[in-house]
Amino acid sequence: MNTIKVDYLIIGGGILGLTTAFNLGQIVDKSKTIVILESRSRCGTKASGNNTGVIHSGLFYNTESSKLLMSLRGGILLKKYCVDRGITLQPSGKLILAKDQEDLVEYEHRANYSNIRHQKLTPRELSLFDQELQGHSALYLPDVCNIEPNDVITSLVRDVKSRQNTKILCNEAFVNYIGSNTIITSSKLVFCFNHLFNTSGESSTQISRYFGFVKPYILVPVEGRYFSIGDNILTSKTNLYPIQDKSSPFLPIHVTYSERYGYLAGPTAHPLFLADSRLIQEILTATTLLKQTNSYFSYDKDTVKYILTNITMSSKVNVYNSLRTLIPRLNYQDISRSPKRGVRAQNLDISSGKLVNDFELFMTDTSTHFINPISPGFTSAFALTEYAINQSKACNY
Ligand SMILES: Cc1cc2nc3c(=O)[nH]c(=O)nc-3n(C[C@H](O)[C@H](O)[C@H](O)COP(=O)(O)OP(=O)(O)OC[C@H]3O[C@@H](n4cnc5c(N)ncnc54)[C@H](O)[C@@H]3O)c2cc1C
Repeated sequence: MNTIKVDYLIIGGGILGLTTAFNLGQIVDKSKTIVILESRSRCGTKASGNNTGVIHSGLFYNTESSKLLMSLRGGILLKKYCVDRGITLQPSGKLILAKDQEDLVEYEHRANYSNIRHQKLTPRELSLFDQELQGHSALYLPDVCNIEPNDVITSLVRDVKSRQNTKILCNEAFVNYIGSNTIITSSKLVFCFNHLFNTSGESSTQISRYFGFVKPYILVPVEGRYFSIGDNILTSKTNLYPIQDKSSPFLPIHVTYSERYGYLAGPTAHPLFLADSRLIQEILTATTLLKQTNSYFSYDKDTVKYILTNITMSSKVNVYNSLRTLIPRLNYQDISRSPKRGVRAQNLDISSGKLVNDFELFMTDTSTHFINPISPGFTSAFALTEYAINQSKACNY
C-alpha cells in the first residue's frame, strides 16, 4: 500500500474543517501540505449548510462558557470574512421578547458584561416597532446579522482550494486509525500525518475514541425543523427570540427573517434516539468506559424533561402554540412546514445524565478533536479553530 504523507489532515469538510484549513493556511509555511477528507460528495451538506444562519451575539450563553467567548470573537471574524469576500450580511438585529421587564434584567447584565450593543424597549416602543408584538418588553440587539450559510461554505471551499499544497477530497471518509499517525480511508488510501484535526461533526466523538478520548459520552442526533410564516403577518423584518428556559441547552423556537426565505420559525430540537445505528455502538463504548472508571450511569431530571417535551416538538400544533407566546394574534393557518432541516451533533454524558452544553476540545500531541460542535458553532468557527490551532502542537514542528 502506498502511504500518502501530509502535514495536516482534516477529517470533515463542514465549517470547522474549512476554517481549520483556512486558518492554518494563513499561518503555516506555503510548503506545508493540508488535506481535507469529506465523506460526502460536497462540503457543508450536514449541519453547516442547513442551519439558521444567525451570527449570534453570545447573549444567550453564560459568562463562563467557551460558547460566549468563541461567539463574541467568532462573530467579528465571520462578519469580517463576509465583508472581505462580498458575502451578503443581512443586518436583521434581534429582539429578545419577555412578558415582564424583570425577565430581561439578566440579559441586560450579560450585554453590559460582554459589551454587546443593546437597547431596552418598553411595550409601547415595541408596538411602534411591530404592532403584532404588543404586550411584550424587549431587548434589541442591533448588531445581530443573518447570512446564507452555504454562501460562506462556497467561498471557503474556493479559498482553501486556491492555496498551494491544499486538497479537498470528497467521497473519502476516515475509516480506521492504525497507530503511528496513520489512518485508512473508505477507498483504502493510507495517510500518514504530522497533525490530524477531527472536525467530523456527528462522527467526532466516535473518531476521537481511536485517539484516546475516554469521557462516557454518546452522541444523540437532535433534529431541527422549520416552519414558514406568511409574509403579511409581521412588519419588523427582525429576528424574534423568547427568553430561554435555563434547563435546556437549546434556544427556544424563534423567528428569523431573511430576504431569501422570509420569516422562518424554528428550529425544533427533537432527539432522534433510534435514527442512527452508530448509537448502539456508542452506548456500548460509553458503558465500558463507565465501568473502567468505576462510575455509574445517572439521569438528570432536566434532561428527561427536555426529552419528554421535545420528542413530539416537530408537530405543527406544538410549534404554533410556542409561537403564540411571541406573536399572540398568529393564526394556525399562517404557518406551514418548510423543507429546511438540520441535525445537531449533541453529546449526552451518561455519568451525569446531562446534555453536554459547551464546546470541548480533546488534544493529543499529534491530534486535535472538536467534541460537541453544537450551536453557535457556525458563528464561532473562525475563533474556535484559531484557538484550537494555537493550543495544539500543530505548528510546533
Ligand atoms: C438546525 C440547526 C440550526 C443551527 N443554527 C445555527 C445558527 O443560527 N448559528 C450558529 O452559529 N450555529 C447554528 N447551528 C450550529 C452549527 O450549524 C454547527 O455548530 C456547525 O455547523 C458545526 O460544524 P461542523 O463542521 O462541526 O459540522 P458539520 O457541518 O456536520 O461537518 C462535519 C462534516 O464531517 C463529515 N464527516 C463525518 N464523518 C466523516 C468521516 N468519517 N470522514 C470524513 N468526513 C466525515 C460530514 O459529512 C460533514 O460534512 C445550527 C445547527 C443546526 C442543526
